[in-house]
Amino acid sequence: MEMEKYQRMIYKRIYDTFQSWNKSDFISEREIYSFLHSLKGTAGSIGLHELSSMGSEKLESLTETSEKQWSRKEWKNYLSPIIEAISFYQTNYPIQPLDNTLVQVTNYATNREFILVIDDDVIFISYIKTVLEEQGYAVLVAHNGKRGLELIYELRPSIVFLDIMLPDINGFSILQNIKKINKDRMFVAVMSVNDNKENRLRAYEMGALDFIAKPIDQEILIAYVKNRLAYKKELEHSIVIDELTQVYNRKFMDSQLQKLIQLSTRNNEPFSAVIADLDYFKKVNDTYGHLVGDEVLKGFATLVKDAKREQDIFCRYGGEEFVFLMPQTSGEEAYRVMERLRTLMEQKYFDGNGTTFQVTFSAGVVEATAANLHPKKLLEEADQALYHAKQSGRNQTILFNHITKGIKKRVNIKIIVIDDVSVIRSLIVNYFKNWEVSEQYEIEVMDFSDGISFLNADWYKENSKYIILLDGIMPKMDGIEVLKKIREKHSSSDVIVSMLTGRKGEEYVLQALENGADDYIVKPFNIADVSNRIISLINRLFM
Ligand code: GH3
Ligand code: MG
Ligand code: MG
Repeated sequence: MEMEKYQRMIYKRIYDTFQSWNKSDFISEREIYSFLHSLKGTAGSIGLHELSSMGSEKLESLTETSEKQWSRKEWKNYLSPIIEAISFYQTNYPIQPLDNTLVQVTNYATNREFILVIDDDVIFISYIKTVLEEQGYAVLVAHNGKRGLELIYELRPSIVFLDIMLPDINGFSILQNIKKINKDRMFVAVMSVNDNKENRLRAYEMGALDFIAKPIDQEILIAYVKNRLAYKKELEHSIVIDELTQVYNRKFMDSQLQKLIQLSTRNNEPFSAVIADLDYFKKVNDTYGHLVGDEVLKGFATLVKDAKREQDIFCRYGGEEFVFLMPQTSGEEAYRVMERLRTLMEQKYFDGNGTTFQVTFSAGVVEATAANLHPKKLLEEADQALYHAKQSGRNQTILFNHITKGIKKRVNIKIIVIDDVSVIRSLIVNYFKNWEVSEQYEIEVMDFSDGISFLNADWYKENSKYIILLDGIMPKMDGIEVLKKIREKHSSSDVIVSMLTGRKGEEYVLQALENGADDYIVKPFNIADVSNRIISLINRLFM
């Protein structure tokens, strides 16, 4: 596109202008005037309307003949929306090797492991986050123990960096908690300034894999993370039993499913696959706590192990979802097996905080046929049947062949950008507009220029999930205020909030996290990175 070429040229020109102004202590108002003047004209002509109107707005309070000299601080402050827009553009569409005063270097590594840092020192947190994110890792942070434990449950990070001195819960008691739940063989590294013998001993005895003395060198940190993730991968490769429930894990399920498909192709043997998902399990966690939730998972697994047919392969697929592979079994037969298990489950009582309660599950069954003889396809169909079971009231089994074709489980995900800089908004909106990343969800993008119009809009619809990218500093209503309002009504299970912050805002980050932000992104950011992060969050939290 011809236009694009000119747009790049103008972005480059603006960038160069700022770079050269940056070198002098003062700039004349006349120079600023003529810059804005041409920005208004040219940008508007080549389709950059937001830039053009920014130029025109800023132009209004200047005069062409003024003798005034502007200090660096003054013009930067005055032109900050334009500067922000330009750095944002440069970060995403680098034009030339740039002097790095305005641009953040980004690495496009594709490793999407989650790393969780639990530490009360926000400067330390953001240091680690920056270092590791430059390597392509997704880093989440918690500034107190409570939030840390929550994220451990919600996100199942691969590595946890754990500080001992925390404002609420002592790091050691978090360690104890992790040991009790022993989630997904998570690697915990205690990081502390107090690296005395007693602390080291205690950390190791309580199951920490490593004890790292602070301060930590950047290169060592990166090497450490690489090393541990590689080891974890190897380890997981050799393990087929889920630690919590002691049933087969997903890895084993994958390999068995492959085998069944091969057998079926060769000998024409029928088989069926089932996905079962506990009903309203979140409520169990919310009401009785995660430890009781874990007991329910174990109890369910035990019930099934005792009652299932010998030949059926029962696996924990993830979270509270389980897969059954039933060799030499038709869909109708599998349906009956599941109904028998379902009836047993609905009669079982669990203990929690001195009371008893019941938990049910829903199941989707699919029979392998020539048309769906592929792991992904089969599980997708089982999942669609499960979705129908959920939709029609839960605590039931549905056979895929019985549901009307063409209705697909598509999770509706809305990405909302709230930022007063329109160029940033439109770049993000355009990026995500045609974002086709998965058949499982559909994406919509909305944007607002300030918090008030967002809060007044009727943005929330049930059955949708939201990712809000919220600018920290906005003229009409501060980002934190908007965040508080969101959190009065909506928790992270439906609405994820990621703050967009400036570089220096450590205090601000702490405040944001305390008020319920799930994540923060430092401006200027790279949209490709943000989109990777969004995919991870969607998969972990919403799917
Ligand atoms: P639905 O009937 O629609 O399935 O409702 P639900 O509440 O079960 O919904 P969803 O599948 O979204 O929630 C699953 C929850 O299970 C989210 C997560 O907090 C929790 N969970 C996942 N893994 C574990 C685990 O290992 N232990 C505990 N205690 N909770 C877990
Ligand atoms: Mg569930
Ligand atoms: Mg689920």
